[in-house]
Amino acid sequence: MTSQNPVFIPGPTNIPEVIRKACDMGTLDHRSPAFARIFKPAVEGVKAVLGTTTGEVIIFPSTGTGGWEAAVSNTLSPGDTVLAARFGMFSLRWIDLCQRHGLNVEVIETPWGQGAPLAAIEAALRADKSHKIKAVLGTHNETATGVRSDIAGLRRAMDAAGHPAMLFVDGVSSIGSMPFEMDGWGIDVAIAGSQKGFMLPAGLAIVGISQKAIAAMETAKLPRTFFDFADMRRTYLAGGFPYTPPVGLLNGLAVAVQMLRDEGLANVYARHHRIAEGVRRAIAAWGMRPCAATADLYSDTVTAVVVPEGFNGTDIVKLAAEKYDVAFGVGLGEVAGKVFRIGHLGMLTDVMMLSGLATAEMCMADLGYPIKLGSGVAAAQEYYRSHGAQAIRVAA
Ligand SMILES: *Cc1c(COP(=O)(O)O)cnc(C)c1O
Repeated sequence: MTSQNPVFIPGPTNIPEVIRKACDMGTLDHRSPAFARIFKPAVEGVKAVLGTTTGEVIIFPSTGTGGWEAAVSNTLSPGDTVLAARFGMFSLRWIDLCQRHGLNVEVIETPWGQGAPLAAIEAALRADKSHKIKAVLGTHNETATGVRSDIAGLRRAMDAAGHPAMLFVDGVSSIGSMPFEMDGWGIDVAIAGSQKGFMLPAGLAIVGISQKAIAAMETAKLPRTFFDFADMRRTYLAGGFPYTPPVGLLNGLAVAVQMLRDEGLANVYARHHRIAEGVRRAIAAWGMRPCAATADLYSDTVTAVVVPEGFNGTDIVKLAAEKYDVAFGVGLGEVAGKVFRIGHLGMLTDVMMLSGLATAEMCMADLGYPIKLGSGVAAAQEYYRSHGAQAIRVAA
């Protein structure tokens, strides 16, 4: 039997049936008015999810990583300096991408489990009297450690330093699941992918760009062709694409943003918070803790659970896949083996989450962890039943 189980990885996430059906389309001419009727509402819906009215949205057939590349190559020139903190696998890989593009990255090493170090970032900007730093990179939700950084605070730090750098934010595992304010936080490039909060298969890089980022394109000299914002903006005006777009995915995106808006973004965020809090209650009941150092850093989309000394978190993930046909995330990079990750974003209900927690418990019991079956599930149940658990309403 093909598994009917939900996945508990922080992307790709569970795909709602209505979205799967929306992606399954017959051939459609992307130069026809019918394509514009799919594409325009998708773009408008994404703007609402990003929280922008003054910015624009560009969508590439790609993934989040392509969004990073688009952000950098459209706005910067070889040798430009960018400032970034490295505190997990995703901030690390974004820095690597910048270095491979010939950028000079000023890296602030930060312990894994911490978030963006606002004071150190402000100090680095203040020290940059000649304004060599052209952009600050922020990883809103570090998916490797389950840490959410304070992007509003990052903007305040940049303003306090009086520094004109652009602010680029990786929101791949936060956008559509946790509050995100592109305009409110003064973000110049916001990056998402289709396979996390948007509940779609992988295949789209979803990028929000501010007027300041658009202006930066005029002088930016890094090469770009496939990821050229200018080509996209030109053809978007006519409702089209400079090359062949993945029409089915874009149709799915139009449905996904409508689903998020039907549920109400505030309700979507509240649901993610509630499900995440139940997971955290379960972890505490197991006598374990999240990798995120303090409660203000806890992510509502993924929790990296620190396993006890003498155990390897990857074994839980392997056993869950082999014996129970359930997917959890392994620890990456510096925290490989030390954590396993529970993804709790996208199309997920409290009841689905309880099945994930129950599976994690079975695996831990199988592997000899000192936990009592049902202890974490009970803690989550108590939380869910006293915090208004409710099913997601899925439009027919
Ligand atoms: C998943 C993820 C990415 C990478 O996205 P891909 O779609 O796999 O290229 C980048 N950043 C964060 C924070 C992520 O969670």
